[in-house]
Amino acid sequence: MVGAISLTYYKLHQSERELVFWQNKYQQDVASLKNTLVQLKQTEQKLRSLLKLGSKEEIIKQAEFKDLPSSSGAVEIEDIKQEIEKRIRSISSLKVYLKRQKSIYLATPLGWPASGYISSSFGWRIHPITGLKDFHHGVDIAASIGTPVKSTANGIVVYTGRTKGNGNFVIIEHGCGYSTLYAHLKKYIVKEGQEVKRGDVIGYIGSTGLSTGSHLHYEVWKNKKRINPLPYIKEKINFAQG
Ligand SMILES: [Zn+2]
Repeated sequence: MVGAISLTYYKLHQSERELVFWQNKYQQDVASLKNTLVQLKQTEQKLRSLLKLGSKEEIIKQAEFKDLPSSSGAVEIEDIKQEIEKRIRSISSLKVYLKRQKSIYLATPLGWPASGYISSSFGWRIHPITGLKDFHHGVDIAASIGTPVKSTANGIVVYTGRTKGNGNFVIIEHGCGYSTLYAHLKKYIVKEGQEVKRGDVIGYIGSTGLSTGSHLHYEVWKNKKRINPLPYIKEKINFAQG
């Protein structure tokens, strides 16, 4: 009898111990999952803070999430796991988005290719030499001979050469549909096939070709069409939609 009672006690104690064990384990699991969730939340916040332009809204909408279950209420492991999965999806879509944004940013011609002032804009004008009505496919930036000319985006030099009209000129292919052309150079210092970064000096302002004074003729091409470089020079374009 004594033995049987002891056994019953033992069994009772055992299930009590098991209960305590599982309770502890549950609490540890919840704590560790919550910790993971906090870390994911921080990563997500960091990524979101990188998004600064208008087109971010779509992705942020997708990435919306509910507040964390409060620790005082009933915390279900399954809820937290679902929350974690949701955040992992959200973070990976943010990462893809940011990577794409970065490559568009690097390929978009931004800023001034040379310091000077705009002496002729994009559009119809009377050609300064021929005196005929003529569509000007770029902008002219007047500056003294020898002023450095810089690539306005990362890219690869696809052409260097000389023609009667352009004088010495360079074409750079940037990717994402963009290329730029720099004409009337005194000289260029890059080779075809050379990789350039935004801001790298590619040549110097001159007055070669059909030109009345020292200036840079600068063109921006988007999907094989010449577009007005001015918003790009003044960085008033949304590169994300570029
Ligand atoms: Zn021009």
